[in-house]
Amino acid sequence: MKIISVETTERTQMVDITYEVRKGISELGVKDGLCLVFVPHTTAGITINENADQDVKTDIINSLNKLIPQKGDYRHREGNSDAHIKASLMGSSVMLAIENGELVLGSWQGIFFCEFDGPRKRKVVIKCIRNT
Ligand code: ZN
Repeated sequence: MKIISVETTERTQMVDITYEVRKGISELGVKDGLCLVFVPHTTAGITINENADQDVKTDIINSLNKLIPQKGDYRHREGNSDAHIKASLMGSSVMLAIENGELVLGSWQGIFFCEFDGPRKRKVVIKCIRNT
């Protein structure tokens, strides 16, 4: 298992962690198998999407903020219900294939840590299943 540290700087932010996940897998020495990338937080999530055009990230964040505003008719006393809802929409894990020691990703795909109640110090867990 590997743990990646992510330090976010905004309340809502998508951080490209593709490089860190690749590094983690290479350190684990997995050549062929499956890799779970898991976020152990209730107000952050993870997703795979385009990392070529930065505007995609901005559009996703702006659309989520429009759909689920920070202030609303929420009951949760901590005052961060929007962050919990956004985290559930994104999900808390992604599963990726590893082939010849490399992550199997489309040319335009990147792995994004999704912060919804930052800035905070966060963790991402990487756990792999080896095929060989
Ligand atoms: Zn809360």
